[in-house]
Amino acid sequence: MTTSKDEKSDDVLGLSGTSDALGNGLDEVSPTVFSRRDILRLGAALGLTTLGGGAFWGVLEAMAAKGPATEWFKSVCRYCGTGCGVQLGMSDGEVIEVRGDEDAHNQGKLCIKGSLLTVLNQLPGRLTTPQIRRDGTLRKASWDEAMALVAERFKQAIREAGPSSVAYFGSGQLYIEESYTANKLFKAGLGSNNVDGNPRLCMASAAVGYTKTYGKDEPPGAFEDIDHAEVFFIIGANPAECHQPVFERILSRRRQHPNTVIVCVDPRRTMTAEYADIHISPRPGSDLLLLWSMANVIVHDGFADRDFVSAHVSMQNVDGSAADWGALERFLDGYAPSKVSERLGVPAARIRELAQLFATRPATMSLWTMGLNQRVDGVALNTTMNALHLLTGQIGRPGATPLSLTGQGNACGGVRDTGSLAHLLPHGRLITNPAHRAEMEQHWGVPAGRIAPTPGLDALELFRAMEDGRVRCLLNVCTNPGQSMPNLGRYEEAMKRAFVVVVDAFEDTATSRFADVVLPAAMWIEKEGVYGQTERRYQLLEKLLEAPGEARSDLEILVDFAERMGLADLISARTPAEVWEEYRNLSSHSKYDFSGMTRERLREAHGLQWPCPTEDHPGTARRYIPGDPFVREGRDIDFYGTPDHKARIFLTPYEDRSDPVDADFPLILTTGRIVEQWHTGTMTDRIPEIREATPRGHFELCEGDAVPLGLQDGDRALVTSRYGALEGPVKVSRSPRPGTLFAAFYDAHWLVNKVVTDRCDPTSKQPDYKTTAVHVEKVRT
Ligand code: SF4
Repeated sequence: MTTSKDEKSDDVLGLSGTSDALGNGLDEVSPTVFSRRDILRLGAALGLTTLGGGAFWGVLEAMAAKGPATEWFKSVCRYCGTGCGVQLGMSDGEVIEVRGDEDAHNQGKLCIKGSLLTVLNQLPGRLTTPQIRRDGTLRKASWDEAMALVAERFKQAIREAGPSSVAYFGSGQLYIEESYTANKLFKAGLGSNNVDGNPRLCMASAAVGYTKTYGKDEPPGAFEDIDHAEVFFIIGANPAECHQPVFERILSRRRQHPNTVIVCVDPRRTMTAEYADIHISPRPGSDLLLLWSMANVIVHDGFADRDFVSAHVSMQNVDGSAADWGALERFLDGYAPSKVSERLGVPAARIRELAQLFATRPATMSLWTMGLNQRVDGVALNTTMNALHLLTGQIGRPGATPLSLTGQGNACGGVRDTGSLAHLLPHGRLITNPAHRAEMEQHWGVPAGRIAPTPGLDALELFRAMEDGRVRCLLNVCTNPGQSMPNLGRYEEAMKRAFVVVVDAFEDTATSRFADVVLPAAMWIEKEGVYGQTERRYQLLEKLLEAPGEARSDLEILVDFAERMGLADLISARTPAEVWEEYRNLSSHSKYDFSGMTRERLREAHGLQWPCPTEDHPGTARRYIPGDPFVREGRDIDFYGTPDHKARIFLTPYEDRSDPVDADFPLILTTGRIVEQWHTGTMTDRIPEIREATPRGHFELCEGDAVPLGLQDGDRALVTSRYGALEGPVKVSRSPRPGTLFAAFYDAHWLVNKVVTDRCDPTSKQPDYKTTAVHVEKVRT
């Protein structure tokens, strides 16, 4: 949608159109969240230490030199699951300004990554032609040559070894239309359920946690709840760096309501912990003990909402049998604060204080992300986090809700909702459910029995199957497993053994190093499609730019592939709008119903949240309460996702299944992101200003661990685990908990995932990136 030229665009830096987060003084703003106006007003005072100061001023000056934008377009940030709305100012076919969209859920705020979207389409290293590896080197090829080779190899594999010998590995960065098409093509067309991708590494445990608890994936609440909560229970997340507009909204709530309490549970003293009122630093891997111990206090000290539980909740023992209140009490006896305090490394009084706070304040909102999801007990952590809300009745009221934050921009809409994981079909249907398969076969117009009855291979198994030859061909689209997989050395070898096709916007990624064919993809606003972010909000991104060279949209590539595989009739929707119509109509057969989201509505709206079953429905911010179209008449709350309309609490005991810490591997490595860089850095680390401002890959540890090892800031250390070893510089800081190291994973030339364990949660199959036992020694030069 073209908006009128902004009335304030005579301000060449685009400062006036941004929201004023400053209020009346520096103490009222988070220095971690930036409108561009904030940056300019705060820059000198704060020194822009996280941004590299002068480099960022250079970007702003360069943008100013291009003059004011002549047209403005509504769009969405390319990066994370916050899904910030942006206004893009264009002139002469170039994006020259970006502003946070005041009318979107991010309320005009952007983080530094979003503020630098202007340069995204001009970054160096774009792929402009297909390439085929010949004599060990990727060489330029025509589209016809490359696609013919891809089709030939996939057909050969299917002919010789069956459909399960081919696989698709995608991501939450593709548009909904693209992931939906790939999923349909592989499962209903090629007959392979080997459809998985980065979201398995990122939030599979959250998806399983919601589904087990409420019968349906995706959160009950929304970002809007932030404006009503009094307690923010942030666990295993660092929104001050990774979801900054969300955290700014939390800080804004605290500024307006001084009774608000922000709790941060994280072994590291992160930027979020710095801003929190209470920081709890449990031993890595032990936080299920904390959650059950809080439940112990809630139940035994009379803070539970028993009326709510008896009306709306059913409980299950670990063996699947029904549990009653007495069974819950007996189960919780083992988690008395005094019994778990030492193992947790948290004083018992602190646990009691937290439990009381969580249960008794008018509205408690919990937020979490990879710290709970990327764990061997990720599903138990997710179901237990939801259980705390159910036990206390902290759900279904404004501000009282669990909300799992997400990492990739379209992982919820594009992958979870489309069912583009090995065990899923669209809208919560399961591969293992015969009725669900039959339903999808009918919708997709394929013969009964076409969809294979067993789940495909999850990410780890998929790469192991390439290792032993069960999977011969991989179509890898818009993701970078050559950098993001754990135990990377093993899976690099696996990629060498298969025929690997990489579809990417950029050349020379850690994955394309193993590619047999590389296909150049259009990115972001070089194509049209829908993104669905954390809170079930779908937003349309329009095509505003042409892709460079011969690059094509991922949808065009999938359609071409389908035709060459003889599946043109199945993949008959060829444009984003045609695919959306098919998919939108399909949703009306489910509780995900967003059939009211026409393309035209999405073009105008600043995001719509499903369920949204009719074209005049406003969308649904909060599920399971009146206003949600599926809630039965006269019910205050209705967990309609389960047959008995009750949510579930699972009495899953804590078991220490993390990578064992012992005398050989006495420290724990945990990995994550930093404020400026996004995911594996294929985009952000090519932005010169960001690259200049961020340190190269390094290990961070506290002084108490560094000194006995003879390590000082700037020294080099060799970090060895049971999986691999990596040498790198050391930064000594007060952030990591004693006994732990932290490393970010964005640096493509320093692959820290070579050290990380590939242990995973047994149900979600999500790997544990947070608790790898390691040995550290100083490298003497
Ligand atoms: Fe918003 Fe995430 Fe983009 Fe930052 S990276 S502007 S938080 S969507």
